[in-house]
Amino acid sequence: MQYSWFKELSRFLWFGLVVAVLGLMLGHLTLLLLLYTLGYLAWYFYNLKQIEHWLHKGKKSPPPQAKGLWGEMFNGIYRLQQRSRKRNKRLVKFLNRFRETTGALPYGVIVLREQGDIEWWNEAAQKLLELKYPQDVGQRMGNLIRHPRFNAYIHGKTDEPDIDIPSPFDDQQILNVRIIPYGKNQRLVTIRDVTLIQQVEQMRRDFVANISHELRTPLTVLSGYVENLLEHQPDEATLQHALNLMSQQTRRMQHLTEDLMLLSSLENDPATIKREVVNVAHMLAGLREQAEVLSGDKNHAIVLEADDNVQLRGNPKELDSIFTNLVVNAVNYTPEKGRIRICWYADEAGAHFEVHDTGTGIASHHLHRLTERFYRVDLARSRETGGSGLGLAIVKHAMQQSQGKLRIKSELGRGSSFICDFPAHLVVYKGPESSKTIGSA
Ligand code: ADP
Repeated sequence: MQYSWFKELSRFLWFGLVVAVLGLMLGHLTLLLLLYTLGYLAWYFYNLKQIEHWLHKGKKSPPPQAKGLWGEMFNGIYRLQQRSRKRNKRLVKFLNRFRETTGALPYGVIVLREQGDIEWWNEAAQKLLELKYPQDVGQRMGNLIRHPRFNAYIHGKTDEPDIDIPSPFDDQQILNVRIIPYGKNQRLVTIRDVTLIQQVEQMRRDFVANISHELRTPLTVLSGYVENLLEHQPDEATLQHALNLMSQQTRRMQHLTEDLMLLSSLENDPATIKREVVNVAHMLAGLREQAEVLSGDKNHAIVLEADDNVQLRGNPKELDSIFTNLVVNAVNYTPEKGRIRICWYADEAGAHFEVHDTGTGIASHHLHRLTERFYRVDLARSRETGGSGLGLAIVKHAMQQSQGKLRIKSELGRGSSFICDFPAHLVVYKGPESSKTIGSA
């Protein structure tokens, strides 16, 4: 380009010299030099007009044709334009990829400017903090999350690498917030919904606390009696009484560990559970007899209405534990002379096992928590009946394994209904006719 510029200048001067000589010869030096300069200026302005017109026409049209320095300048600008267009394309592509990647991230990302105001966010952050574009661009993070712990954290008043705080829009949702400094005084905020992790962690803590509590009580009774027996010489009656109570506590611990093992096997190895066609009516007839024995002096009226024709494809052990837990609960939580009705039948929706009792009933606010491990409405009563607090948790899990669902209806003081719905594809009919097994106390 420098060379062309020099060539252009030389050409201008050489032509000027020729015009000057011609002017001297003709005796019109000034006039010819003026005309020459005006002609050069006209050509100069013509090229300027060309370039202006081309730049206004749009970037994609080819540059105007010109010779010499002007032609090279047009081509130079054109090459620069092409290069910057390619660079822009690459930048847009990169930005789109960056947006797609951050959009796919399961946690929210927010970019803060030096002053701590929001510059950019991804889709997950938009959902978690209900951010709105463009209103929230430039908004301060502290205005968005007004929790005191976050305030201390964003101002660097705490050493914690990240914090867990309730969501500003739903206090049941727990958010994990981490601020990562980067670049020149910029900060990246990552936000994760850790509600489920926290719940699982809480359940784990509760579970350990509950197990320890459940085992400590019978162990305290047992060790108390053992020490007493070792220290004193008991008479026959005291010894008998102590042994009875010790055996009761041992059974309780045994019951608890058996239930725990069952629950853990239901949770851990669903694949190993073998299914076969189970004669449920026959199983329930046996269970009704056991319920009679358990009822003893309470003299419950126990009615069984079972369709002998309806069989179920399932795991006999699992089904037995579902039916037994529900029937035993009905006996345990129904006062003397109450009625217990056990039903087994099928319809288009599938097969149904129902236990209705006229017992104590359960207040509605307990119902959604009943299947949690160790959840009891009345702790004292549950202990009295020797319950492990795991019965309904086992039923819920076993029902899940059987692809069915447990429904609970109850009214305080009037009684409860526990209904197990099994899907239609698991029902196996014995024959076309339906025959019912009916029994009562
Ligand atoms: P538990 O071993 O204490 O019986 P479950 O898991 O079987 O444990 O039951 C949980 C709680 O649900 C019981 O403690 C009891 O308060 C309540 N419950 C279960 N079945 C009945 C019922 N048929 N009538 C009233 N309350 C019941």
